[in-house]
Amino acid sequence: MGVVVQKYGGSSVADLDRLRRVAERVVNTRRAGNDVVVVVSAMGNTTNELLDLARRVSPSAGRREIDMLISVGERISMALLSMAITAMGEPAISFTGSQSGIITDESHSAARILAVRPDRVRAALAEGKITIVAGFQGVSRDREVTTLGRGGSDLTAVALAAALGADWCEICSDVDGVYTADPRVVPDAIRLDTLSLDEALAQARNGTSSASRSWPRPR
Ligand code: ASP
Ligand code: MG
Repeated sequence: MGVVVQKYGGSSVADLDRLRRVAERVVNTRRAGNDVVVVVSAMGNTTNELLDLARRVSPSAGRREIDMLISVGERISMALLSMAITAMGEPAISFTGSQSGIITDESHSAARILAVRPDRVRAALAEGKITIVAGFQGVSRDREVTTLGRGGSDLTAVALAAALGADWCEICSDVDGVYTADPRVVPDAIRLDTLSLDEALAQARNGTSSASRSWPRPR
């Protein structure tokens, strides 16, 4: 059986109808005979709403507490998606970034992935479960919850796919291809017909943060 990693962004799980459609697609992938790992982002505008709450409580909130807050968005998605899939008759389990072994440095809100140790993901797959992972987050070596920078769920998916030796990593989106920039923001962005793995990694990295960051291969 092949391992397939599918990542669904916030607009793909923005409401319960869309979440159920994602669940159906995941279940179909499973029933086609694959081991399926799903990485999800926060529903719709959740991350921005959480950041707005933080700003209203304290304009100078520290980045640790911001990470504690905004990592919740992906946890909502992962749990609901797991419930939806289970309700469709396929066993599923959700894991936070920390539980999935996404180990990062200590740099809150722009953490770099240092290692991926997906033991629990592998064990769940071996038990025949569809495994749902909260994107965008990890745990630092001093066991603090970290986030990877805006749009970071793509990084979670690619890093997990590499660590699991996945046959396939799908970045599922409601945009009809990979563009040089976000076509909803940059009107003259160009759609790319093909791109190499290195280019894909560069794209994923650029999509996550305006700060320049390097991409360490998971150890
Ligand atoms: N929810 C996070 C964000 O909005 C991560 C992601 O969407 O990939 O930036
Ligand atoms: Mg998002």
